[in-house]
Amino acid sequence: MRRTPVLLLSVALGGPLAPLGAAGTLLTNALLLDGSGAPGRAGSLRIEGERIAAVAYAPETLAPLAGEAVVDVHGLALAPGFIDTHTHGDEEVREHPDALGAVSQGITTLIGGQDGGSELPLADFFGELERQPVAVNVASYAGHGTIRSRVLGADFRRAATRTEVEAMRDLLRTEMAAGALGLSTGLEYDPGIYSASTELVELAKVAAAAGGRYISHVRSEDRDFWAAIDEILAIGREAKLPVQISHVKLAMRSLWGEAPRLLALLDAARRSGVDVTADIYPYLYWHAGLTVLFPLRNFESLEAAEFALREVVPPEGLILARYLPQPSYAGKTLAAIARERGEPPARTLIELIRMAEAMKAEGREGVENIIATSMIEGDLEQLLAWPETNLCTDGQLDGRHPRGFGSYPRVLGRYVRERRVLTLEQAVRKGTALAADHVGIPDRGRLVPGAFADLVLLDPATVVDRATTDEPHALSTGIERVWVNGTVVYEGGRPTGARPGRVLRRASGAATR
Ligand SMILES: [Zn+2]
Repeated sequence: MRRTPVLLLSVALGGPLAPLGAAGTLLTNALLLDGSGAPGRAGSLRIEGERIAAVAYAPETLAPLAGEAVVDVHGLALAPGFIDTHTHGDEEVREHPDALGAVSQGITTLIGGQDGGSELPLADFFGELERQPVAVNVASYAGHGTIRSRVLGADFRRAATRTEVEAMRDLLRTEMAAGALGLSTGLEYDPGIYSASTELVELAKVAAAAGGRYISHVRSEDRDFWAAIDEILAIGREAKLPVQISHVKLAMRSLWGEAPRLLALLDAARRSGVDVTADIYPYLYWHAGLTVLFPLRNFESLEAAEFALREVVPPEGLILARYLPQPSYAGKTLAAIARERGEPPARTLIELIRMAEAMKAEGREGVENIIATSMIEGDLEQLLAWPETNLCTDGQLDGRHPRGFGSYPRVLGRYVRERRVLTLEQAVRKGTALAADHVGIPDRGRLVPGAFADLVLLDPATVVDRATTDEPHALSTGIERVWVNGTVVYEGGRPTGARPGRVLRRASGAATR
């Protein structure tokens, strides 16, 4: 380890933490994966301050500068830090400023404000993060659901009026001016599920006018999936802005095997001029609330419950991750709870929702959530391989789904090394340059001089996730060191405590100080 002289230098200079990066670091003997998808090449890379100062490919070399720390990385792979285009980490990063779940998998930028939920106003959230920085960069969409709640309040189970849509457009304009990347929607959730498509188009036009984008947890990932895809494509066409399908999946028995049909549809839309893209997390099970199993919100319907358990998630595939009305149920499957209660699973499901909704009606939040296995490997692999799919976690920094700690190493270990669905270079591109392009962040996601030095040093031969549903916070193997804006935030399996993360606003992509 060659960092000691740098530390001594920073102490000698009497500076705070900044000199660690400012002194400069030369990483030699690396396998450089530049983010573009081009074959990895041996070379060296210089970090100066917050940025990449130089990149040289063998046989070219970079001669060490006076005072520079030289670190031989012994052939490990050096890639741009991962940009998580769909995370819920933004909701928790102030409580977990080291963002261990993110940095331990090589993530250096969190793209939050997802599924229709964001901080409002974003200007305050961004200001807070700048006064008290965290380990990672943070950017955000403006959430449609959040804005809709502000305007409609508790009376949200209906279409919005023209006046209300105008009020929402005004709020969105403010959020776009504060630096939101665009508009996010969560159309399987309250209150987004009650919005008309016309409302979404009117709002998307505001995002488009500001040069922003649209990203959506689409209206259905199961029963009405094809209509939901038609809706997002129509929004892209009518509002004239790039649209991204969040955590793309085929989450219903009757949809299994339909990945080719979906991708053909998306490719056709792209050819017709709709800039549609997707992100994906590498697991066959999702994590959300019980209510998404009832798109008609007919929670008392035995028929709807039986349909959900037959077509969307079988009772043994549904784990209650959290359940406040009866905390002893947490961690158990619906099948086990039904056995305990001596009733058919569909009846249990109805009872669980009834108790949870009663508690929510009293104003309690975070009452329940579930982890549900609804997808199959063949679809996941084809969706992952689509050239316009980038990677995401959809995870939390302190959540129960292992994706919050394992997504990127899982792609690199399982889908690159073991199953060979992607090359290492393709996977890195999907986590970096492609992700940056899909959310509109320049100056990151590529190993080029002048870019911000968000970097991950990893071992392609060993990298793999270890987080599971039983141990969702187990750290991955093979992520050796992570830099954010030129400063090391993770190494040796622990966060360094450094907090160099910036707020990334849409305007320039780079942070303003
Ligand atoms: Zn979602």
